[in-house]
Amino acid sequence: MAFDVDALRKDFPILGRTMDSGARLVYLDSGATTQKPLQVLDAERDFYLTHNAAVHRGAHQLAGEATEAYENARRTIARFVGADEDEVVFTKNTTEGINLVAYALGNARRIGPGDRIVVTEMEHHANLVPWQQLAERTGATLDWFGLTDEGRLDLSRADELIDERTKVVAVTHQSNVLGTVNPVRELADRAHAFGALVVVDGAQSVPHRPVDVRELGADLLAFSGHKMLGPNGIGVLWGRRELLAELPPFLTGGSMVEIVEMDRTTFLPPPQRFEAGVPMTSQTVGLAAAVQYLEALGMAEVAAHEDQLTARALQLLGELPGVHIVGPSALTERGSAVSFTVDGVHPHDVGQVLDERGIAVRVGHHCARPIVRRYGIPATTRATFYVYNTEAEVDALVEGVRAAQAYFGR
Ligand code: PMP
Repeated sequence: MAFDVDALRKDFPILGRTMDSGARLVYLDSGATTQKPLQVLDAERDFYLTHNAAVHRGAHQLAGEATEAYENARRTIARFVGADEDEVVFTKNTTEGINLVAYALGNARRIGPGDRIVVTEMEHHANLVPWQQLAERTGATLDWFGLTDEGRLDLSRADELIDERTKVVAVTHQSNVLGTVNPVRELADRAHAFGALVVVDGAQSVPHRPVDVRELGADLLAFSGHKMLGPNGIGVLWGRRELLAELPPFLTGGSMVEIVEMDRTTFLPPPQRFEAGVPMTSQTVGLAAAVQYLEALGMAEVAAHEDQLTARALQLLGELPGVHIVGPSALTERGSAVSFTVDGVHPHDVGQVLDERGIAVRVGHHCARPIVRRYGIPATTRATFYVYNTEAEVDALVEGVRAAQAYFGR
């Protein structure tokens, strides 16, 4: 059964805000970052009020409590994605998780001249630039799956792109611009047949749909807490246990070492090997509270709620003459990022008219510039939905777009 959105909104006081224009906030930018419920804020505050200390250090009780809170959070988050706790590495965000992998693979010399790294044309810069850089450092080649006109991956070159030269396939699970959900399992099966690793950007999937890392078939998966009701500055990198055990560290220093001599050091096993320095702690506690909040709603229900809003947005926006959705139309192939263009009205102008009505959307290339280039458009307007959004807010968006068209004489 679906959850009660009106009741849930009380957990997010910010949603009751009035903006400078006098309009009530309609927050449709959760793809960039989500709002945080009181339960998450309270969990962080409680940690600081009663348990704060540096984890994995000190013989005192508080340090023990802080460590327990930190490791409990790891367990909660591992369970959420079907992982074992020692496979969950805390990072700053998705960007750091992917950089960690790219640097560790380079340091391990698992990529060299003549090898191929494969990405897709729909990647967020966070899952593109680190691979460009790794290719440059190692002499490997970077290649990519292109996109179809409907916003899907063009898999027609799969045989050519994934073969014995391919060492890494890095793909987003769900596009932050097009909404497209990619066939990760299919790509992973092919990649694994050639011994390639599959790195998945889960920044837009883990917050929005049930994700089980084993079913997904990936080797590594990165996501961000701030996009799933959690605090800023905390992310997760999941990796298969055997693989993490083989990878050398990315950042080095305290908390990740076993024995340090003046001229050499041995490292702790994962996940500590990848968590140098005093880690984010209240943030992990906050993220665990966010996960519990989502689990109480049920991830299948979260996805169903977003589907309902997305279907409405696609239908009503699609009915407006001159409005074009960029991305697949079938709900079975997409999530709730709805990007569109409006004939004769620049996305920035659409965004401004919406902002005057209190409606927060994102405009631009959404850190995935190759996508807008692929479709020959300067930018898009993007609405993204989450657990706290309502059908009335979708209608306000559509009304706002109609107003932008009228204002600019279309
Ligand atoms: N990948 C995707 C698909 C994203 O949407 C984002 C955030 N916009 C990122 C990666 C990067 O996330 P973060 O900035 O939290 O590292």
